[in-house]
Amino acid sequence: MRLKVVLATRNRAKAEEYSLLFKDAPIELTTLAEQNVSTEIEETGHTIEENARLKALGYAAASGLLVLADDSGLEVDALGGEPGSLSARYAGENASDAERIALLLSRLEGVPWEKRSARFRCVIAVASGPELLRVCQGECEGIISLEPRGTSGFGYDPVFYVPELDRTMAELSMEEKNRVSHRGRAARKALEFLAHYASGE
Ligand code: IMP
Repeated sequence: MRLKVVLATRNRAKAEEYSLLFKDAPIELTTLAEQNVSTEIEETGHTIEENARLKALGYAAASGLLVLADDSGLEVDALGGEPGSLSARYAGENASDAERIALLLSRLEGVPWEKRSARFRCVIAVASGPELLRVCQGECEGIISLEPRGTSGFGYDPVFYVPELDRTMAELSMEEKNRVSHRGRAARKALEFLAHYASGE
């Protein structure tokens, strides 16, 4: 029997990446909308990990189902780790990806290539009812490029240069991105846990 898991995100691009990552797993991924969950869990934590836990526990309580919550963000070393847990709201609540990228590039103006190191971080929390079952992490190291390149992906992908592939994240196919990304790495750990969980081990 396939294990039913609610993916707690309203971000379409993230959801597409998960669909591909979980495509061959014995898991039925469903969404908050499909489960008629209208509760909105606020990201009031101060860290990516705290927000992932809050969302997993909050949506598990609201849906009564097994929930997988993703919280992720970009940490730029020259900015002391910012925008971090504020990545989605950098440049304000209603700003666009292009505006967030423009703000990031302006904050890094004059910072040389070798000091533009950054990483994407993803924390996946899995919860069922009141219980937090697992927390998995994934990171991807890169460099904030001098200008945007590529049209795939979402968020900061066009300015996140991946040295090992000599392209920005937005120049990768979804398969390529999933292979190296923070989300891909965290999701593979979560999948391993869910496989054990499903088999009752
Ligand atoms: P969250 O929805 O609170 O996890 O916000 C994550 C934010 O971090 C997104 O809105 C993006 O701005 C950024 N982010 C996270 N993962 C990625 C990614 O894979 N590519 C580009 N930006 C990302």
